[in-house]
Amino acid sequence: MLFGRHKKNPIKMADKKVEKWSYATCGYCSVGCSIEIGTNADGKVVGSRGVGGADVNRGKLCVKGIFEHELFTSDGRGDKPLSRDKVSDNYQETTWDDAASTMASEITRIQETYGRDSFAVVSTGQLLTEEFYTLGKLTRGVIGTNNYDGNTTLCMASAVSGYKRSFGSDGPPGCYEDFEHTECLMAWGSNLPEQHPIIYWRLQEAREKRDFPLIVVDPRVTMLAQKADIHLAVTPGTDVVLQNAFMHVILNEGLEDSDYIKANTVGIKELKAEVQHYDPTTAAKICGIDEDTIRSVARIYAKAKTAMGIWTMGINQSTHGSDGVVGINNLSLITGNIGKPGGTSLSITGQCNAMGTREWSSCSGLPGYRYLENEQDRKDIGEFWNVDPEFFPKKRGLAQTDIFPAIETGQIKGLWLVATNPMTSMPNTERTRRMFEKLEFVVVQDSYVDVETMQYAHLFLPASTWAEKEGVFTNTERRVNVTRKVVDGPGESKPDFDIFNLVAKHFSKSESMSFPENPEAVFDEMKVLSKGRLLDMSGMNHDLIEKQRGIQWPYTEEQAKKGELPPAGGKRLYTKNATFCFPNGKAKLIPLPYIENNEVPDEKFPFWLNSGRLVEHFHTRTKTGKLGNTNKYSPIPFMEINPDAALDMGIKQGEYVRCISRRGDAVVMAMLTQRVARNAVFIPFHYFDCVNRLTLGLLDPHSRQPAFKQSAVSIEKLEDQQAAAQLSMEMRNF
Ligand code: SF4
Repeated sequence: MLFGRHKKNPIKMADKKVEKWSYATCGYCSVGCSIEIGTNADGKVVGSRGVGGADVNRGKLCVKGIFEHELFTSDGRGDKPLSRDKVSDNYQETTWDDAASTMASEITRIQETYGRDSFAVVSTGQLLTEEFYTLGKLTRGVIGTNNYDGNTTLCMASAVSGYKRSFGSDGPPGCYEDFEHTECLMAWGSNLPEQHPIIYWRLQEAREKRDFPLIVVDPRVTMLAQKADIHLAVTPGTDVVLQNAFMHVILNEGLEDSDYIKANTVGIKELKAEVQHYDPTTAAKICGIDEDTIRSVARIYAKAKTAMGIWTMGINQSTHGSDGVVGINNLSLITGNIGKPGGTSLSITGQCNAMGTREWSSCSGLPGYRYLENEQDRKDIGEFWNVDPEFFPKKRGLAQTDIFPAIETGQIKGLWLVATNPMTSMPNTERTRRMFEKLEFVVVQDSYVDVETMQYAHLFLPASTWAEKEGVFTNTERRVNVTRKVVDGPGESKPDFDIFNLVAKHFSKSESMSFPENPEAVFDEMKVLSKGRLLDMSGMNHDLIEKQRGIQWPYTEEQAKKGELPPAGGKRLYTKNATFCFPNGKAKLIPLPYIENNEVPDEKFPFWLNSGRLVEHFHTRTKTGKLGNTNKYSPIPFMEINPDAALDMGIKQGEYVRCISRRGDAVVMAMLTQRVARNAVFIPFHYFDCVNRLTLGLLDPHSRQPAFKQSAVSIEKLEDQQAAAQLSMEMRNF
């Protein structure tokens, strides 16, 4: 009997009369699932399905991927360029040529009046890699502003910073196949079932074949924590203390891998000295995990033949984000768990192409993991692009989270936003709003015309999305995968790639440079620039990538010439001794003293505020909020609150409450659950004018990533429930 029924009714699949399936890579998260998009005899998109032969997802998709094809006809798509002189005016339709010409003249005016860096560009993790590369060439080689960054600073900057500090380069060393080999997995602030559902499915499949301990470190009882063998509900923001305590136990009990440390690392003496301050008894009082548990978990981890550490925003979005990543790397290095099957330190990336922007956008440097600070790198790229190397700045400019405060101080006067929505995604919405009001010229380039930041734009450039254009993404495990163009974007919208090329043509400086007309030609440039480097992709091309259902870098021209196909499964970095990216080939073990610098709950604001993702939504809901099949699961925001805390305040399940911080307030529906501690609440981050009205967003000193997850709030019961419900609805237009 199934759920009380005596007869099982088979699911009937509607025949959508698909005539052709076209290959793509999911455009939401960084798992990088291979998708086929079905079109009928009229060329109309009617469905999507997972690709069975793709190693990443093996035919599966999550709820977002299953309905992704509905994006092509969703509400709110921009189909014409729009402009206005003042933000108080209504938008008027304009032509692409006029839009690009206005843009070029405004950028020139601002730079001539206030200096070259007074115009800033903030990009995303959602463009195709060829588009990132082209935007980088335009921004670094033509416009010449040094204040150029991506919204990836809000999600992955700490992972990048931590990898660079430990290994000498960005680039996750592991792969999903490591789940098949590991004997212990420690997940830090990572809720895979909701954030990266198909990676979670790979993990569960591996555990069903061969059980191994899953240890989850997270203040909240997330879905992953519910599946864990051991859940460590750490005090928010104190992961580094717990990591130091683990290392104290490992190093003092002789559980480290001395041979590996000697052959591959520097700094063990200094690390050992630092962790002496974090004996489990002392650490327990700070991080909230009892000393016996600290000892036994450290022993389980260190004694496993292979162990891996994974993490997501719980580590990255903290004032200690970069240190937390280095701490995970330290743990991997002292136990010899890098570069071997099942032994790794793997950041689970956020957006579909956060890796592509890290590798090729030139946001924090120059393409192909090159540095502005390195003279040879400036010279090489200058020669390749035909740009005087002296035109490049000699060190990177402001990160996204410093660009906005620089607007406040008058240092930045103009802003070009590409596929990002800071009015919803930045911490402290009211402050962000005031910053936007100070700008003289704002360009919003987006697939959606109703994106909230449009309130402050002077120019709107409608962009195509996902399979309305062609190019590649790189996923969490360094797998480059291709998306083919299936349909045209709506109306006059253009691929971002074409928009960058058009804007470039309106600057005379671009005349001496080459801006290829198609993505494959751009990919060829990237191949040349990748040769011999960590991210070598010189053996790849779009057709081979599709045939292999994605190829992990490195994959060299020599391998391709020899006919050596890339492995279907996983590929790892740093597999041989002393091959890390510092000149001596050795990784750095870095001591991590802990400094308490978060906003913490007090008498007036007694709750920790945590924020995070829901499986059915992506980022600021620009896409998923328009699709009934995803939006229906959570069309309005809610707040998880512990039932005991709710009882104290007389708050019932489903009632609206006011959540208040020192920055502002938000009206949310209360959901009573034991998932959160009595002194904590959780609000999803997808909604406009909601959780980020409350967040403080102190910045990590290394990565400049905001601490979205550590703020203090109070809760107020609302008397007029009807008015609160009305407000909650009105604040979300879709
Ligand atoms: Fe897309 Fe990520 Fe879902 Fe895969 S897991 S279908 S990549 S959103």
